[in-house]
Amino acid sequence: MSLVKFRRRSRSNVFAAILWLMAWPELMAAEIRSVLLTAQQVTDQELQQARDAGLTSVVLQLTSVKPDVQQQERTAAEKIAQTGLKLDYWIEIARCPELADVHPEWMASLQGHPEWRRFFPDAPLPAKGEVIKNYPWVPILYQEAFDAHRNRVAQLLTDLPPPSMVYLNGLQGAPSACGCGNSLCRWTADYGPILTATRIKANAAVSFVKAVEVLIPHATVIPVWLTECEKHDCTQEGLCSGVGCFDGICWKAWEKQLTPLARHADLIGVFAPYKQFQRDLPLYGGSGAWVSHCVKSFAEMPVRHGGKAIAANRLVTAIQAWDVTEQELNSQLQHMQHSGAAGYVLIKQQIDQSWSPLLYSVTPPRQ
Ligand SMILES: [Zn+2]
Ligand SMILES: [Zn+2]
Repeated sequence: MSLVKFRRRSRSNVFAAILWLMAWPELMAAEIRSVLLTAQQVTDQELQQARDAGLTSVVLQLTSVKPDVQQQERTAAEKIAQTGLKLDYWIEIARCPELADVHPEWMASLQGHPEWRRFFPDAPLPAKGEVIKNYPWVPILYQEAFDAHRNRVAQLLTDLPPPSMVYLNGLQGAPSACGCGNSLCRWTADYGPILTATRIKANAAVSFVKAVEVLIPHATVIPVWLTECEKHDCTQEGLCSGVGCFDGICWKAWEKQLTPLARHADLIGVFAPYKQFQRDLPLYGGSGAWVSHCVKSFAEMPVRHGGKAIAANRLVTAIQAWDVTEQELNSQLQHMQHSGAAGYVLIKQQIDQSWSPLLYSVTPPRQ
């Protein structure tokens, strides 16, 4: 079938770009070529496009344990399974309104540096016995949240067609970990003395991956990891707003969490929607080049902090395929390919990474 014919058939920008890439066999050589869809996005047309584009798999986002949503997601999964493409699942872990609403005490907090307040000038000041929580972030760095998330993943996977891979995004801390306000700074759940849940001292991410592997022994579990802040973020105008995160604890903690994970998992996802994290900057070497910067960070940053380099061919990049032009998507894919990554997941709908302060009373008032 000619390329022109493909182009005419496609209505979606994203798939037009992918179809165009078929002219470059080296790009089609990526081992993993997939698209992440919500249940609402799983239509006959979308699946046909995925097949025409030569994708290897469709990743379905599992979002809720509410019975009606689960039913919709089950129907979507069955539909994907019938295409002959591989079926994978994607689950958001740390950012979880369903758990945060029921167990605010398991949420991360905004203690330490106050620079985050520039985004929330009306946020209250905590009095004695109060702490500002980071809604709706419930990281697995607390034992209670770890157990609840494992049970939630088990529930999300119940009665679904078996996947070949399960992507787990959000196994790090919460955004603005130290209070700097940078969404990329995720090394901890609390940078301050007030704790309302039991901290896991080390290896939470690798333990969580192992726990999910027990739930679904025939699938490959892929932890999806985000890079940390960058040197240029530390300036007064930067995302860390003058806080010295980059040379501080961020990357040291990143390495400490990632190294044991990389010893266990063969494949690691790289969460790299570049516009969402304000990484559409010329310093990376062109639009959409942040993905290769991220891949490089997995080789360089662990070594700098006492760990081992993680080779590019073990990394599956999750790249931004919403709010991008055909050219911007192609650019990301080219950079991904040149970086030597194992493949890509096209994120077709923004995955919410927002956060906001919430005042929480550590000691509930006496009844
Ligand atoms: Zn940082
Ligand atoms: Zn920071």
